[in-house]
Amino acid sequence: MSKILVVEDERKIARFLELELKHEGYEVETAGDGRTGLERALEGKPDLLVLDLMLPELSGIEVCRRLRHESDVPIIMLTAKDDVSDKVMGLDIGADDYMTKPFAIEELLARIRVALRKPRAAARPDKAPENSVCRAGELNVNTGTYEVRFGDEPLQLTKKEYDLLLYLMKNRGRAVTRDELLENIWGYEYTGDTNVVDVYIRYLRHKIDDRFGIRTIQTIRSVGYIFNYE
Ligand code: CA
Repeated sequence: MSKILVVEDERKIARFLELELKHEGYEVETAGDGRTGLERALEGKPDLLVLDLMLPELSGIEVCRRLRHESDVPIIMLTAKDDVSDKVMGLDIGADDYMTKPFAIEELLARIRVALRKPRAAARPDKAPENSVCRAGELNVNTGTYEVRFGDEPLQLTKKEYDLLLYLMKNRGRAVTRDELLENIWGYEYTGDTNVVDVYIRYLRHKIDDRFGIRTIQTIRSVGYIFNYE
């Protein structure tokens, strides 16, 4: 059973989410402010966080930023503001997804299911043949163990970054559009902007290209991206 931590100071919403999530079979913990939320996230090792942006004590952005030093737990941000800069900032500091309040509970549940679809090598032996490796130059992605290395250096990628990298590598030499990436990596139709793809491409470039002085992902103007590295 997956454990979800709900960090939300509006008690009505917190209670509603708790009931709905329990009804879906999740184990639920709640926290009413950012500081408590961060503590519970670090100590309770939840499988996913639903994290409100506007919180007392410590903002959702700050909780997310601090948590990311320690953990890759999927985080879905809740924001009351329909403000792209807030969303992009949330994604920039490592949230996996965001929802604008008010939201339909069905949509949140769908996004939770997507975010929980973590790579589990042992659980799916048929889908992950032992230690199959996707390789480009010094870059190695082991789809059996989900390890990513550049030469001997291990890379710490979040699930989304891993999925995005693997998808691009498997389609190397072919330009892929933002829509295609959204559909295949995020697994549902975004109602808003496609900024999220650019944000994650930036993460990958930071973690791979900038760090090792190479060029793996190129931008194809007004189309999308291409993985061009051998
Ligand atoms: Ca709030």
